[in-house]
Amino acid sequence: MNTPVFMYHALYHEESLLAGADKVYAISYKTFDGHIRFCELEKRKICSLADLYAKSFIQTSPVCVFTFDDGHISNYEAMLKLIEKGYSADLFVNSAFINTENYMTDSQLKEVSDAGISVQSHGHEHPYFSDLSDDEVYYQLNESKKVIEGITGKTVNIFAPPGGRINPNVIQIAKKLGYICIANSKPGVIKNNPDQFNIPRLPIQQHTSEQTIKDWLKPKAEGVLGLQCKYNITKIAKTVLGNKRYEALRSKVLN
Ligand SMILES: [Zn+2]
Repeated sequence: MNTPVFMYHALYHEESLLAGADKVYAISYKTFDGHIRFCELEKRKICSLADLYAKSFIQTSPVCVFTFDDGHISNYEAMLKLIEKGYSADLFVNSAFINTENYMTDSQLKEVSDAGISVQSHGHEHPYFSDLSDDEVYYQLNESKKVIEGITGKTVNIFAPPGGRINPNVIQIAKKLGYICIANSKPGVIKNNPDQFNIPRLPIQQHTSEQTIKDWLKPKAEGVLGLQCKYNITKIAKTVLGNKRYEALRSKVLN
């Protein structure tokens, strides 16, 4: 069975009022409501990676995993929406940003965690982990785990690396610290018995069309292969240029 894992960032009611988030990755709440509806039409229950892990990734009925990166303040409303419908999701937050402008507060995180949302690590700050020394990786993973666990009272054991930038060292250090799952940004779908330290996700961007979402939710997850090709080409560019030069080029092209 194919299970898509959607990767969301910020949401907005009015795009012009969106603060502290990359607009390329932000979508409207109206669009988000549509995604929930499309899942329901495909009879896919919305759940978290933590839910799937708890079932050893054995999927008895169709689901779609919703994940949210960065812990932007706008995620709070999205979580309440999912909770109200009896769904779950993983919220990957940067522990250093909690309670700062444009980010969720500790009491909001505690509230959604108590209601079944899986609050997990996106690092302490938001560095590219592939650029860090082993000590820095250890610090980011350990600190975020401690801070978030202190807020929710629940175990933090899933990590989503910022920008999907990761290497085998990061995985080893994460394992040592008790992480059981890593959600990256490589496009794909989960099948039964996946590599739990290499969970692919489908990026939801402002330009992602309704049809694309509907295709991804189909039993055969249509359109994912094309996205994988595009991702691999971008990955080569990042390797050739290095992260910093790639980002500079990307912002030049987008602005
Ligand atoms: Zn991020």
